[in-house]
Amino acid sequence: MTADVKNSVKTEADCLFCKIIAGEIPSYKVYEDDVVYAFKDINPKAKVHVLVVPKNHYKNVAELAEQSPETLVHIVETAKNIANDAFGGSFRLIFNTGKEAGQSVFHVHAHVLTGEVLDE
Ligand code: 5GP
Ligand code: ZN
Repeated sequence: MTADVKNSVKTEADCLFCKIIAGEIPSYKVYEDDVVYAFKDINPKAKVHVLVVPKNHYKNVAELAEQSPETLVHIVETAKNIANDAFGGSFRLIFNTGKEAGQSVFHVHAHVLTGEVLDE
């Protein structure tokens, strides 16, 4: 199995992050390739707070791990690269999964927090 590629992007109508990936809603891009799009969180919780999303739509990290584990690995590698550039490689990676756990956008996204010493 290979990581997702751009020419087979799966989107979902009325998904905020599908619209951001498509450029229909503006965002501050940090990184992009065929598989992922990374952009600054609108409400940052750290000096550097980037969201890394797969271009294909999966509702959460559990579904992503089941359906495209290579894409999940690619998200982690992207987070590592962002943190290497921003803060010597240290970062916190969060996937809120499910409404009760704080997920508010149901297109899987990694919160990458870095750029400063983080509270525990
Ligand atoms: P969740 O609560 O689902 O784990 O994370 C959703 C994140 O998306 C939140 O941290 C929120 O600040 C961010 N967010 C929501 N709407 C927008 C938007 O329109 N643009 C950007 N850049 N971030 C957004
Ligand atoms: Zn989506």
